[in-house]
Amino acid sequence: MIPDTAIDTVETILVDLPTIRPHQLSVATMRSQTLALVRIRCRDGREGWGEATTIGGLQYGEESPESVKTNIDRHLAPLLLGEDARGVGRLLVKLRRGARGNRFAKCALETALLDIQAQRLGVPMSDLLGGRVRDSLPVAWTLASGDTGRDIAEAEDMLERRRHRVFKLKIGLRAPEDDVAHVLAICRALDGRASVRVDVNQAWSEMQAERAIARLQDGGVELIEQPVPREHPAALARLARRFEVPIMADESLHGPADANQLARLDAADVFAVKIAQSGGLFAARQVAEIAAVNGLGLYGGTMLEGGIGTIASAQLFATFEKLDWGSELFGPLLLTEELLTEPLCYRDFELHLPSGSGLGVRPDPDKLAILRRDRTAPRLHAV
Ligand SMILES: [Mg+2]
Repeated sequence: MIPDTAIDTVETILVDLPTIRPHQLSVATMRSQTLALVRIRCRDGREGWGEATTIGGLQYGEESPESVKTNIDRHLAPLLLGEDARGVGRLLVKLRRGARGNRFAKCALETALLDIQAQRLGVPMSDLLGGRVRDSLPVAWTLASGDTGRDIAEAEDMLERRRHRVFKLKIGLRAPEDDVAHVLAICRALDGRASVRVDVNQAWSEMQAERAIARLQDGGVELIEQPVPREHPAALARLARRFEVPIMADESLHGPADANQLARLDAADVFAVKIAQSGGLFAARQVAEIAAVNGLGLYGGTMLEGGIGTIASAQLFATFEKLDWGSELFGPLLLTEELLTEPLCYRDFELHLPSGSGLGVRPDPDKLAILRRDRTAPRLHAV
């Protein structure tokens, strides 16, 4: 007898949305974002949502929205269909053993399973992840228009509207000296009124990083994110030792094993924790715990997800005892369309978590029907 709590359908929906402005990174310039949303539905009609959105597709990482969809449809969904959704732990083991890698796809499925479980128990998802110690998270904004004047105007507007007072500058595309001039101009313009940080997205060699970071440190930059490639942890460690300004690992962290190695090498002062990059919510929790036991700082990172992935991240980050460097959970604010039935609450420089059970947010089915890439996609049913 198949229980009502058995998983009946697993559906992956791709949604292409324009961004409010070009978002320039060292690896890609984004003009739109493709959300990869996953819906798991049980026989009793209860459904959970997850998200596996990536940045810049294969220019950034190994998974693309299309590969996420294919791998879930063909390989991961069959591991779940017909199984009792209440056995989350067992299902996560099955997913881990059934496929290597695929961190983003697995994270989306894990999120949807936890969403369903938390709804059944009538608790917010954060209760399954350790319990909340805070109900809101500070949120940084990324300045990445590629133009110094436009970035300063954008920062002034955010300060005025009390939406953000921490700004992360995406650099690494131009020559390091041009980037340094750009960052220092913004530091001077915002002097004392905001925190300015940079994300190099692995673009520099160690030597370029040494020269540039010295000047950025003198100019008042508060945090240097991933200056060198993830393949060079020893170089990251030398930079972390050499400079007073904290060095943060982001792309270097593909889950707990990387976190463990970086901590042993003293390779970073701060970890950027991301749920999809880590391979799921529990793996991201392990990354955060490795940071905590080694006395490292923590920052809640984003893959520029829409509302589902953003709130899934927030449900986890709200359980961290310390979140010294705040978060960058601004993904939905970069998109031109609101997909949720209730927009997320950004107020007084923070993202406020919903109080409902599960994720506490839902996509609007009518908007999704209009915006999904393939409006006639078949669903995978349990047999
Ligand atoms: Mg980063």
